Amino acid sequence: MPLVNMKDMLQHAYDHGYAVGAFDLVSLDFLEGILAAAERARAPVILSLAESHYEYFDFELMMPAVEAAAKRASVPVAIHLDHGASLESAVRAIKFGCNGVMVDASHTNFGENTRITKSVVEAAHACGMPVEGELGYVPGVEGEDAERHPGEVAYTTLAEARAYVERTRVDFLAVSIGTVHGHMKGKPKLDYQRLKQINEALAIPLVIHGGTGLSDDQFRRLITNGVAKINYYTALADVAGASVRANAKANRSNSYTGLMKNVREAISAEVECRMRLWGSAGRAAEVLTRCRPWMPVEHLIIYNVEGVDETRVEMMMAEGRRVLGAIPGVREVVTGKAVQENAKYRYTWLVRFCHPAVIDSYHEHPDHVAFADKMFRPLAGERISIDFNIVETVFSVQNHHNIAGGERR
Ligand SMILES: [Zn+2]
Repeated sequence: MPLVNMKDMLQHAYDHGYAVGAFDLVSLDFLEGILAAAERARAPVILSLAESHYEYFDFELMMPAVEAAAKRASVPVAIHLDHGASLESAVRAIKFGCNGVMVDASHTNFGENTRITKSVVEAAHACGMPVEGELGYVPGVEGEDAERHPGEVAYTTLAEARAYVERTRVDFLAVSIGTVHGHMKGKPKLDYQRLKQINEALAIPLVIHGGTGLSDDQFRRLITNGVAKINYYTALADVAGASVRANAKANRSNSYTGLMKNVREAISAEVECRMRLWGSAGRAAEVLTRCRPWMPVEHLIIYNVEGVDETRVEMMMAEGRRVLGAIPGVREVVTGKAVQENAKYRYTWLVRFCHPAVIDSYHEHPDHVAFADKMFRPLAGERISIDFNIVETVFSVQNHHNIAGGERR
């Protein structure tokens, strides 16, 4: 069950002077390649899904695979929404299984960025979830990155960083100190002095976007100055593309599977190399013992109704699934009826929360209060309710060797 609390994970990296890689994935080849690398390197890892990449995959289809892969991993994993554009996208990411979210309003002015970020932080913290904000602007300079992140680089200033973190309460801050998304023309020049000052003033884990193209030495200096999370995608997309081109050139096979052969391994090798450079390799065991596991909670009600016909009960259930299912931190609402006609209790609600913090925020949420008062309690008579932690047996079948090998093709 190696999904871990991402705030603990990055705090551990920050305290111990290394950085965790946050690798954006756009397909199952990326997902498997990244995790196989983490297993070989015994490294904590962040599986990252960027909202700007949603056109490459169906987020709601991808997330169950990401979650299943994280759960069967033997190294600590966090699942992160990268560059979330709005409060709605953050809430949706939480619903589908992310346990950390980034809100990116860095293209707006300071006041607007602060306002949007604060709204996401309030919702996410009520779900027990950390938030990454971005201040300053990291542009893209080539191809798709230029279209997705238009404009000029804007450096993060110390005064704004202080005010932004104080007002929004973000847990991690992405800073702009000279990197760009995508490829950079020439050698990037990084403003370490600025980074050092921000780190000393804030003392929270800092994040770098646009890691592709930096030298080993540049990475080391970033980490020395408080960078605990490095976003990395472009180089992975490049090695994957190179692998496809090599297959095409070798003309072994023109089929899809032939062209995609070894893509996963190429991604995996690049990821492993970064984990070793950034110091996260070999930290898995420590992180697993020091960081809180990320465990869902379920809220169960079994109940009876008095003097109401089935149609009304079913309407109430449908309304409950719709209203309660939209509350931040609720992953799923399952309604049911007893199989046996003569069961002592006839109906059930099962509400899955992403984190124990949601027990309180859910019960206080105005939509829940209104539904409970107006629709549920007037119908439901006798009832029992319980919030429970999922207990997972140590005997569950988990074949780590399959993943660790990463070479099943
Ligand atoms: Zn980014």
